[in-house]
This record gives sequence, C-alpha cells and structure tokens, in this order.
Amino acid sequence: NEGLGSWPARRARKTPHRTALIHGERSTDYRTLHTRVTRLAHALRARGVRRGDRIAHLGPNHPAYLETLFAAGTLGAVFVPLNTRLAGPEIAFQLADSGAKALIHGPAHAGLVAGLPGETDVRTFLEIGDAYEQALASASQEPIDEPVGPDDTCIIMYTSGTTGRPKGAMLTHGNLTWNAVNVLVDHDLIADERALVSAPLFHTAGLNMLALPVLLKGGTCVLVEAFDPGTTLDLIERHRITFMFGVPAMFDQVARHPRWAGADLSSLRILTCGGSPVPTPLIAVYQQRGLTFLQGYGMTEAAPGTLFLDAEHAVDKAGSAGVPHFFSDVRVVRPDLTPVDAGETGEIVVRGPHVMPGYWGLPEETEAAFADGWFRSGDAARVDEDGYVYVVDRIKDMIISGGENIYPAEIEDILLAHPGIAECAVIGVPDDKWGEVPRAVVVPAPGAGLDPDEVLAALSGRLAKYKIPKSVVVTDELPRTASGKLLKSRVRNRYGTPTP
Ligand code: AMP
Ligand code: MG
Repeated sequence: NEGLGSWPARRARKTPHRTALIHGERSTDYRTLHTRVTRLAHALRARGVRRGDRIAHLGPNHPAYLETLFAAGTLGAVFVPLNTRLAGPEIAFQLADSGAKALIHGPAHAGLVAGLPGETDVRTFLEIGDAYEQALASASQEPIDEPVGPDDTCIIMYTSGTTGRPKGAMLTHGNLTWNAVNVLVDHDLIADERALVSAPLFHTAGLNMLALPVLLKGGTCVLVEAFDPGTTLDLIERHRITFMFGVPAMFDQVARHPRWAGADLSSLRILTCGGSPVPTPLIAVYQQRGLTFLQGYGMTEAAPGTLFLDAEHAVDKAGSAGVPHFFSDVRVVRPDLTPVDAGETGEIVVRGPHVMPGYWGLPEETEAAFADGWFRSGDAARVDEDGYVYVVDRIKDMIISGGENIYPAEIEDILLAHPGIAECAVIGVPDDKWGEVPRAVVVPAPGAGLDPDEVLAALSGRLAKYKIPKSVVVTDELPRTASGKLLKSRVRNRYGTPTP
C-alpha cells in the first residue's frame, strides 16, 4: 500500500510513541492510531465493505474522522466526507450520488441519519461512541496489505457548481500526497508541529492543508469540534500550539476576544489563512504580536493548495495570493489560453500532480472543467511584474460566507419551484461578520402576493442554514438581455448594497 492508508503504519514504525491526535482529554499516539485504523478496516470489511466502495463520514472534528479516512485507504475504499452543516435532503443527495455503502456518523447526527430516505445504498451505519468502540474492540488487528497506488481515488469531496447540483471532486492518493508535500516544503513544517485543527475536516482546507501534512511529518493535531475564539486562545496556551489555519473571520474574532491582549502566543510559528485575502488591518493586528500570516489560494479540485504567499511578502505583496506551490503550475490566461501580460486580467488555470482527475460520474462536466490539461478555476486574476497573482473577481457565480461557498443556482432552483415566484436571482451582499451573505431578489408570479417570510420558509430544512438568504427583496422585474438572459452583474449593482 503506497497510499494514505499506509501512513499510520509508516508512522508507527518510525515514531510509535509520538502523539498523533489530541481530542479533549484523550491523546492517541501513532502506534495506537495504526492499531485502531487496522481494526476499523477489519470491522468495515466484515460488514461487506470492499476495495473501491465508498465510505461516508458525517461528524465533527474527532479522532474517528481520521481513522475512517485511513481505514478506507487501508482497504482501497474511498472516503466521502460530508459537510455537517447541510440539511437532510442535501446529505441524502451526496450519499446517493456517491453510492456510499457505509456511513460513520457522530451522535449529534443520529436524528438526521434516522430520517434519511431509503434510496441510498448505505447498509452499514456506525455511530461514533459505544457502537464504534465495540466494532473496533471485536475486530482483528492483523495487518491488511491491499495494493493501493497513487492513481487510485482516495477521497470524493463534494463541491457545488454553477449548475446547482454538487459535484464530487475525486482526489487520488497521489493528489493528496503531493499537496501535503507542497505544504511541508512551503510552510516549513517540523516534526514538533502542534496544529490546532478547528477548521472542519470535511473541507479540503482543514483536512488537506492542516491535518494531513502534520500527520505525514509526525506532528500532533489537536482536534476541536467547533471553533470558538476564547477556546482557541485557551488551547494555544495549553498545548503550546505552533500551527493554525483559518479563514480571516476566525482570526478576526480571536483578535477581538477580551483574553487576546493577555494571552501567551509565543508558541505560534505558522498562521495560515485561505479562502480570501487577509485584510491589511488584520495583518497589522497580528503583526503587533509578532505574528505574520502565510496566505494561500486553492480549490477543492486542486486538493487544494495552488498559490502561496510566504510571510516575507505578507506586507509588500498584501492582497496577493502569491506564487504557485512548489509542485504546482499556474497560469493566468486569456480565453484562447495564452498567458496574460503583467497587469492584464485573465482566468487562473492550474496543472500539477495535486489536481484531480475529474468529477465522480460526470465525464462531461470533467471535460468542460479542463482546457488543454489545465483545470479552469473560474476565478479572474492579474499578475504583477514579479509573477505574484492577485485574485480580482470570480467569473463563476459564487458567494463566500464565513468560509463556506454558496452557489446561487442551488438556492434559485428551489425558489423557482415555488408557485408564488416567477423569477429570482440570489446575490452576495457585503457583511462585516461573514464577508458576504446571500440575498434573494424575487419577482412574484402574476397575481401572487408574496411576502419575504414565505420565500424563506420555502427554503428552510432543504438547504444548509448558511445558504438561506439573510434578506429578500421583492421587485417587479429583473434586468435581462434582449435574448432574456439574466444580467447577474446588473442585479448585483442594483440590489447588492448592505441595505437595499
Ligand atoms: P473551494 O472549492 O470550496 O475550496 O473554493 C475554491 C474557491 O474559493 C476558489 O475558486 C476561489 O473562488 C475562492 N478562493 C480560495 N482562495 C482564495 C483567495 N486566497 N483569494 C480569493 N478567493 C479565493
Ligand atoms: Mg468549489
């Protein structure tokens, strides 16, 4: 096994007594991690899971998360992490689409899981806690040697699209390994790294930019179930945290906490921020404490690390997403794929051993996502004379709210099915706390009196809460081209101010 499933065994051979995971009062060393992963793999195999099958996981950051991933890798099965913020129908779609055979879930999701429709292929359910521990305790710990190579799929991670239907990005063992190598090289990770993992492991950032590179190197991951600024400061001091990852909103909340001024932050070495550029005032607040951000740009389909801005250039290249990671090739191109000149705007495209082979079960979408072997990001950028890339806009229709991506098409599809709504457009509106929040602009059906609460009621329970519009504007018509195509940019200009 050359894949991720072999990492715990390789670590147990080199550093059996070093701490791999900390969760609350519980510590797991690498030897124990290896044993538990082997037992879980046997337990899943005994329940019918075979090579190539999909194993889904729905739960908060917890040792079982990484155990499931590594156990799947041990069997040559595919790990499918599910976003805990999604509503029941959204989870049901991802389970059915991936054809998951097993689902490991946290106790908080027992109700959602019990209410799942019968159409999924899931036959094995394992709840974290007593049932999970019993399954491990009664399983064999004989080594499993399944041949797994770099081109085998390791993870299917769902990412929404402009078509409204989430797509499963297939990431291979090779993709994840090369991404981890890029992080090790560019972040200068050490064996004594102690990472605070409060970013959710169901997203590529928390899992691939933080937890996996640290475990490859033999460091320690402190797993936190929910982000909280005060707890973050406590844990930094208690565990002498060296490495943290977050979106700007998280770092902002930490710096505004009453305990910030008195907290001992001397252990911190690496603060990485991704998903959007770090605002200059926030850079300054951390710099007063001697802390500099590493910043990055990436996407699920690229496993995700693509561009990287090191600490040395955090100030003179502020606002830039940096230059490509070591094993990544990035271009900013015109529509004919020729590279732009310095200062000109084009689309970011990426190629490299970390870029996915395609979307699960969607050959046409996969084909459309690549041009000449380059993955098209859907992000607009310019490049300066030194080769630093500045993300300037999104070509794709997407809202980012508190680090979660929202694709308007997903919300619009549901709204349009409402009998009282003739037309609608969902746009992002600037928000101090979340960066952006969604707003629905709706045109009522002829003769239908429509009140905004009714619009929101149509969405509740069907979509994750963060996708539910924070405001609704009812209007007579939406701006369209002569051929009837909705002019989203015009909708944004007209209705996109914080108070409409
Ligand atoms: P995801 O697939 O959820 O990881 O989201 C990827 C998208 O997030 C990218 O295509 C960008 O639109 C956005 N994004 C990620 N990093 C940055 C960044 N540093 N600056 C601006 N946008 C970013
Ligand atoms: Mg995406």
